[in-house]
Amino acid sequence: MATCTVSPLLAENVGTGCGENAYKCYQCKRCTSGCPVALYADMHPAMIMRAVQLGQLDMVFDDRFIWLCTGCETCTTRCPQGIDIAAIIDELKIIARRDGRIPAGTPSAAMLKLNYDSFVRWGRMWEVELIARDVLRRPKSVTSWLSLGPKMMLKGKINPTIQRGDTLAMKRMVQTAESITSAKLRRQADAGGEA
Ligand code: SF4
Ligand code: SF4
Repeated sequence: MATCTVSPLLAENVGTGCGENAYKCYQCKRCTSGCPVALYADMHPAMIMRAVQLGQLDMVFDDRFIWLCTGCETCTTRCPQGIDIAAIIDELKIIARRDGRIPAGTPSAAMLKLNYDSFVRWGRMWEVELIARDVLRRPKSVTSWLSLGPKMMLKGKINPTIQRGDTLAMKRMVQTAESITSAKLRRQADAGGEA
C-alpha cells in the first residue's frame, strides 16, 4: 500500500530556506507545460507545488522528478504568480539530502554530488574523474560511457588531462555556500524541525 506521510511544515521550511511562498501557486500549470523533463517522472512542477502546499512528503521525495530538474528556470519565467519554482526545487533537494530521502534509481542525484566533489578538488570539473567514479559506483554505466565518451571527447566536451581551476577561490565559495546552507537548516530546525 502506498504511504502518505504529511508534514504541515514542508511549505514553511521551503519558504525559510529559499524565501519562496509555495502557497501562492493556483495550479495554472504553465510551469509544467514548459518543463523539459516533466514527461520523464510521475510528478511535474505544478504537482510538486501542490504537494509542497499540502506537505505531502512521499509525493515530493519518493519520486525522481526533483532530481531530473535541470535548473533551466523555464518554470520560473512562466509563472504568473512570480514564484521561483526552480529555487523551490533546489531547496527540496537540500531537504532530501538532509533527511536521507533520495529515492533509488536516481543516478542524477549521485552525479550532482560527484560534480560538486570534482569542482571542490580541482577548482573545476574534471570529466574523466567524474566518469571513473560513476563507473566505480555503477558498473553498468560503463556501457553508456563507452558509447558516449568518445563522441564527447571528439566534440571537446571531455578533456582527458587535468585542468586545474582556481582551487582557492573554489574553497572560499564552498565555505560560503556551506555556511549559507547550515544557516538555512538551523532556521528550519528552529522553526520546527524536520520537514
Ligand atoms: S506556473 Fe506558478 S501558479 Fe501556475 S501552476 Fe506553476 S507554480 Fe503554480
Ligand atoms: S527548472 Fe526544473 S522544473 Fe523548472 S522547467 Fe526547468 S527542468 Fe523543469
